[in-house]
Amino acid sequence: MDKQNKTIVDDMVVTLDYLLQLEDGQEIDRSDSQEPLQFLQGHGQIVPGLEQSLYGMRTGDEKKVVVAAADAYGEFDSEDFETVSRNIFPPDMALQEGEQLQLRDSESGKVFQATVSELKEDEVILDFNHPLAGETLIFQVKIADLRDATSEELGHGHVHGVGHHH
Ligand code: ZN
Repeated sequence: MDKQNKTIVDDMVVTLDYLLQLEDGQEIDRSDSQEPLQFLQGHGQIVPGLEQSLYGMRTGDEKKVVVAAADAYGEFDSEDFETVSRNIFPPDMALQEGEQLQLRDSESGKVFQATVSELKEDEVILDFNHPLAGETLIFQVKIADLRDATSEELGHGHVHGVGHHH
């Protein structure tokens, strides 16, 4: 099949140029022309609402995609906060409200993200919502390239781009 006639279906490697903004126009992220975003379509590697909207697009196609919070990083959960003791953090660690932290659960070893919501004298209130929870995301996308994944890539579940050898 001619390359230009290929349309996006599951298990294709998509190279995407994108600009991500919030509804108020604030720019959150954009693709780097030196290192464009590549992912396997249909494998949940990008936010679900964006992935769904890409089916059927061809190389060179551009589109504006509006993704509701529920199909992006989820609704904001006002219950997803936890108050912890200040002394679980090293004394010399300067915490700031709004700061994003990477925390490691000492038992499971699992790493998760939290935002410092409020600092009190002896306590810290952590917000476990994703920083983009509750936000409608507005993507301006362009399909920069499209190809079938190799069987090795499908076996690994990820794209083997330039500089990814194993
Ligand atoms: Zn691999």
